[in-house]
Amino acid sequence: MISVRVENLVKRFPGGLALDHVNVSIKPGELFFILGPSGCGKTTMLRTLAGFYIPDSGRILFDDEDVARLEPHKRNTGMVFQSYALWPHKTVAENVAFGLEQQKVKKDEIRRRVREALESVRMEAFADRKPNELSGGQQQRVALARALVIRPRCLLLDEPLSNLDAKLRHEMRREIRRICKEHKLTTIYVTHDQEEALSIADYMVILSWGRVQQIGSPLQVYKRPANRFVANFIGETNFLEGEVLRTGAGEALVKTGIGEFRGALADYDAEFKEGQKVYLSIRPECWHLDITGPEENCVIGEIRDSTYFGEVAHYDFRVGDTALKISELNPRHMGSARHGKLHAWADPEDVVVLAE
Ligand code: ATP
Repeated sequence: MISVRVENLVKRFPGGLALDHVNVSIKPGELFFILGPSGCGKTTMLRTLAGFYIPDSGRILFDDEDVARLEPHKRNTGMVFQSYALWPHKTVAENVAFGLEQQKVKKDEIRRRVREALESVRMEAFADRKPNELSGGQQQRVALARALVIRPRCLLLDEPLSNLDAKLRHEMRREIRRICKEHKLTTIYVTHDQEEALSIADYMVILSWGRVQQIGSPLQVYKRPANRFVANFIGETNFLEGEVLRTGAGEALVKTGIGEFRGALADYDAEFKEGQKVYLSIRPECWHLDITGPEENCVIGEIRDSTYFGEVAHYDFRVGDTALKISELNPRHMGSARHGKLHAWADPEDVVVLAE
């Protein structure tokens, strides 16, 4: 297990900065995600960690060793690609053995380590098959075994599940987490799939245009997004523009076009002035709906349209001209005409006050 520290990392391409002074600190054994929209620099960061790109400036520390300018094969990282990159003419066992043969490991030891690696991804029964005789999920397991067998210092995964169907993706997510934790591997995982990250990450960084927007646990990033970009990228939300009326410890009272809301500051220590323009972020599932409601953080409106998904319904809720996305588990308010005016309210801790 190693710690990985990225300090002031800059990578410039002819088109501009792909990594703009990125700072990230990953603890030993952590499953760390790099997340962001297409083109934000995720792959560039992973490839820079692997050594396929040399940064323009900055440091990459594996424990205390700066590897930023070290050749890829000397970094001892295990990499798994989106495309699996298995050799079609080799068997599963031969694919997994390849890295060890390159390292001139003895035949007996190769056999033992290949068996162990295949066991750890539950593919020992498929050792003699060729990749084209395997499902996508099984190929992905082989790619993982091939990365693990060399006993890498850290594991780098580039959108490893994007070629799998939704059900397999769910199953493999848990598997990847299990494998990383069993091997006590510091793992860095690139994805644009926020659900993948929320469901298995220990920590994550959200990038936009090569810049760090936020680093935190899934809960921190979802419940206390640092800015509108993160609130909008991770999950769905409603933004309300407003101005600060009062502030207290870690909270503020904000006047918006549809009423006053008390909310929690995204950054507990942030200082807001009276009259300052801010944004509120309120997630669709944080609203409560009923024919009556509390005094605080409550608006009155009606459901304009609804979409039923079985366990949940999504409502287009209107307060005057303002549209709010509201979702309800175990839906009770389908068929808006029957309900007329409804109260919608959100607890102060679910209202996040953002400066930008
Ligand atoms: P995606 O989710 O689409 O894979 P990404 O977040 O991984 O995107 P990167 O591939 O890291 O994004 O690209 C970041 C920026 O750097 C983009 O603007 C991209 O066009 C640019 N870029 C990436 N690789 C190169 C390259 N080899 N040469 C020039 N520009 C590049």
